[in-house]
Amino acid sequence: MDELTASKPPLRVLIAAPRGFCAGVDRAIQIVELALERFGAPVYVRHEIVHIRFVVDRLRQLGAIFVDELDEVPDDRPVVFSAHGVPKSVPQSAQARNLTYVDATCPLVSKVHRQAERLIEEGRHILFIGHSGHPEVIGTFGQVPDGSITLVETVEEAQSVAVPESVELAFLTQTTLSVDDTAAIVDALKARFPSIRAPRSEDICYATSNRQAAVKAIAPECDRMLVIGAPNSSNSLRLAEVAERIGVPARLIERASDIDWDWLGRPAILGLTAGASAPEVLVREVVDALRERFEVTEEIADHTPERMIFKLPRELTSSPAFAGEGDRT
Ligand code: SF4
Repeated sequence: MDELTASKPPLRVLIAAPRGFCAGVDRAIQIVELALERFGAPVYVRHEIVHIRFVVDRLRQLGAIFVDELDEVPDDRPVVFSAHGVPKSVPQSAQARNLTYVDATCPLVSKVHRQAERLIEEGRHILFIGHSGHPEVIGTFGQVPDGSITLVETVEEAQSVAVPESVELAFLTQTTLSVDDTAAIVDALKARFPSIRAPRSEDICYATSNRQAAVKAIAPECDRMLVIGAPNSSNSLRLAEVAERIGVPARLIERASDIDWDWLGRPAILGLTAGASAPEVLVREVVDALRERFEVTEEIADHTPERMIFKLPRELTSSPAFAGEGDRT
């Protein structure tokens, strides 16, 4: 053992599994890459395709231009809509301008959109459990007429929310919520409105639930937890919350350079995970940074592998004949 190694304190790093990229994020990134191949640069992307700077910066280098709204997209360039989903008015505006567009909305978010439409067709009012201002919430609200859906963020709101009289109710949820918080809100809604219609299957997606369960599995052993993800990434924020609730101080970081070494101190066991929009290369970057200061032993938790894969839009995988003809997903 050389002098430098001998001077480093030991550190067990428990790496949660599963972690990192989900099938919806993987698909959204591939859609932008394929659109760049198919149409050439620049390809416009409405909103961050997924919430993480590393991925957004790499796509920007390849020729993607990120914009907030459709009116920033020139008529002659294609535009991709982000994985979080968009209100119906967005593709309608794109069609009105005859823009070429590709919708990278995660199929699990689209499933919630279709459920919302069906419930409104049945004449129900929807109580939507989610976080105000999140792009997925804005997208889902934009699937149904104004006033037909009400946001519920907390148990207290579930107990007090005003609902229209003589209208049957249903609830739906954002895909990236805390499993535990959502269960408490659902219980409060069911206690107050016994006949409220629940979704046929869970709206919180497999990736969100699995990553939270993986944190719960390792957190009891850990002194500290690092979660790789953006501060505006709902599923990543929930992972840090899950650890904190188990009593493990947790921090959200986007890159190794964000590690607050004073806060980290000298833990014996550090938990490490990554939100659904964080690639594995960032996990490796963090482990490498830890190795510079600690004698690291890595342990990856056992888990059942995820096998979810979503199909890419046909327009990007079929012959290029359609390019520039205004076809759309
Ligand atoms: S976190 Fe879930 S809903 Fe969001 S993109 Fe990934 S799989 Fe889809």
